[in-house]
Amino acid sequence: MTRGDVFVISAPSGSGKTTICREVLSRVPGLTLSRSYTTRPKMPGEVDGVDYYFVDEVKFDNMVKSKDFLEFAFVYGKRYGTSRASVEAIVSRGEDAVLEIDVQGGGSVKQAMPDAVRIGILPPDWETLRNRLYARARDSHEEMERRLAAARAEIPELAKYDYLVVNDDLETAVRKVEWIVRARRLRSQRMIACIERILQGTGEGPNGSSNG
Ligand code: 5GP
Repeated sequence: MTRGDVFVISAPSGSGKTTICREVLSRVPGLTLSRSYTTRPKMPGEVDGVDYYFVDEVKFDNMVKSKDFLEFAFVYGKRYGTSRASVEAIVSRGEDAVLEIDVQGGGSVKQAMPDAVRIGILPPDWETLRNRLYARARDSHEEMERRLAAARAEIPELAKYDYLVVNDDLETAVRKVEWIVRARRLRSQRMIACIERILQGTGEGPNGSSNG
């Protein structure tokens, strides 16, 4: 079985990353979200095990000590981590994993898995980012200003990513991320099984050896 790929998707808060990811996940079969662990409190409407696994500091610490995380980071003062086992379960069954994580996590994943594909989502401009963040009104004024300050530092980091998608129009941005995922699946490395199947029809193996 060909192993799936890992797609890291990062963006400053308010760029529409979650909406884009949700839409792409619903359109592309065989693409699965890796659910993160976090110590931040659950927001109204969020469900444990669906949006995140909400855990306390002790549980998070134990997971760090047990090397359960592929990467983990402090984001806006809380801890977030990607479970190594959950990513492995996805890719080993031939599906692609989506990791919706911040730029620090994106850097760690690239080190651990150089083949991971990193996609950055950008707002069209600073004003739009600010307006979107405030329109969402999910957090306090201080928290939103903190997220804007973080965005100022995160955006240059996204230049290191493999692909950048500007979320000007949502549908266009969703399609662009979908193209990246689908194009990745056409890499020759992922198409070896197809070559082998065709060659089996000739009665010869891939290197011209007889299949018997
Ligand atoms: P939020 O609290 O708004 O859901 O997420 C805050 C930030 O943490 C977002 O940028 C999100 O992508 C990031 N994040 C979520 N899960 C993880 C994770 O497992 N690792 C890292 N490094 N960042 C994460």
